[in-house]
Amino acid sequence: MRTLMFRCGECARYTLGKECPKCGSATQSPLPPRYSPEDRYGKYRRMLAQK
Ligand SMILES: [Zn+2]
Repeated sequence: MRTLMFRCGECARYTLGKECPKCGSATQSPLPPRYSPEDRYGKYRRMLAQK
C-alpha cells in the first residue's frame, strides 16, 4: 500500500497536491527514505527550523 499524500514543509499540512492549498508552498512526500517512523518528522522539523 502506498500513500499518495504529500506534506507541506511550511505548515505541516497534508495534501494530495504538489502545492500546499493553505500557504502555496511546494509539498514533499512524507514517505520514509530509510529512517524510523518516529524520527523522520523530527528530522524534517529540524531541517525546516534551520531555514
Ligand atoms: Zn503549507
